[in-house]
Amino acid sequence: MTQTGGLDLFPPRAAIPEIDYTASMTAEGVPFERLDASEVMARWPQWRVDAGTVGLFQADAGIADPFLGNTAHRRLAVEHGARLREQTPVDGLTDTGSGIRVRLGSGDEVLAGKVVIAADAWTNDLLGGLGLRLPLTITQEQVTYFDVPDPAAFCSAPVPDLDLDGRSFRSTVSRRTGSRAQRRHRMSAVGR
Ligand SMILES: Cc1cc2nc3c(=O)[nH]c(=O)nc-3n(C[C@H](O)[C@H](O)[C@H](O)COP(=O)(O)OP(=O)(O)OC[C@H]3O[C@@H](n4cnc5c(N)ncnc54)[C@H](O)[C@@H]3O)c2cc1C
Repeated sequence: MTQTGGLDLFPPRAAIPEIDYTASMTAEGVPFERLDASEVMARWPQWRVDAGTVGLFQADAGIADPFLGNTAHRRLAVEHGARLREQTPVDGLTDTGSGIRVRLGSGDEVLAGKVVIAADAWTNDLLGGLGLRLPLTITQEQVTYFDVPDPAAFCSAPVPDLDLDGRSFRSTVSRRTGSRAQRRHRMSAVGR
């Protein structure tokens, strides 16, 4: 993991309430600092944020590369006897009474004693066949990268990973990557 520190910004009327974060982190004993807009800009003068914005800073936050993690998970699964079927969508699940019938896009069917669904935003598509539904809110998010006029200004001092919630806007800056901002564009599921 590359430790960058992490800063979540909540503008007024944020779509995701700040308390969702603070209550969880407090309950789990995760250390964080709560900063107002002027404190955020004093500590990281590279950023201009609207008055009324609240920042939550976690000094030990960082970036874990999901490609390395997924590769390791796949390798370990195979080493423990799993058979991976890549590029094979699951078209449907049916409860047979003695197990779950898994219908694959390849036309094959697998009868399983247990099924673990890790389909994130698409979970309810698969649960439907079992007559089940989870209360998920699905959001579509856009990733966009922006050049900054003076990259050195973002690398001269530790700059945290930055997450602007509430406007579906996330900006990531680290000493390793220089500066970039991303607007999310992917499906994400939030349990409520
Ligand atoms: C733009 C963006 C930025 C994010 N940044 C961060 C971040 O910095 N840090 C962080 O911790 N989290 C971040 N998240 C959240 C994080 O990406 C998700 O929480 C995480 O990817 C969820 O992992 P998952 O394995 O549960 O689901 P996913 O990674 O969404 O994987 C689900 C998989 O299931 C597959 N699938 C769906 N239906 C079927 C089917 N019927 N058959 C077969 N396969 C199927 C999909 O193709 C997909 O590959 C971000 C999310 C978004 C959208």
